[in-house]
Amino acid sequence: SMTDELTDIRKDLSKKLKKERFEHTIGVMYTAASLAMCYGEDIQKALPAGLLHDCGKYCPSKDQIKLCEKYVISLTESELAMPALIHAKLGAYLAEHEYGIKDRDILDAIIWHTTGRPAMTMLEKIIYIADYIEPNRKIIPGLEEIRSIVFQDIDRAIYLSAKRTVRYLEDGGKAVDPMTVSTCEYYRKEE
Ligand code: FE
Ligand code: FE
Repeated sequence: SMTDELTDIRKDLSKKLKKERFEHTIGVMYTAASLAMCYGEDIQKALPAGLLHDCGKYCPSKDQIKLCEKYVISLTESELAMPALIHAKLGAYLAEHEYGIKDRDILDAIIWHTTGRPAMTMLEKIIYIADYIEPNRKIIPGLEEIRSIVFQDIDRAIYLSAKRTVRYLEDGGKAVDPMTVSTCEYYRKEE
């Protein structure tokens, strides 16, 4: 059953991921389930998507790049320049081929969890924002507001988090993936 599958995956990830990453993963899984309850999304998709969203982070980014070459996962220039993005595509590959997830919706939610994208599916929105707000995340400016509105207005929560991510990267002099910018612009409403 799905429950047994989740238990097996969880056990495996508890060995592969660092302790903090694993705790984050569990936080995302249950936050995603709660959001699924709120927004009428399938909880049985939200749980595995949340559990596996960072499974590509089990090794350093150098090794993630090598694995992408091995599995013929094509990376954009921006992904090669920002290795922190790579675990999303790699994770979706591993979810499918190592953890037996065949559901396209779940795999897409893993692929888009880091940058978001315009016109996300509800499951994609849920994993994107659950990653941002899960209870183990350390408080950064704006997080409490996002947490307080996400169960009323998930699109606004996505806009605020994407805006915050762009600003954080720019302030740190870091490159911003064009897709993150597109996500921010798409979810901005006239204010
Ligand atoms: Fe991630
Ligand atoms: Fe994450």
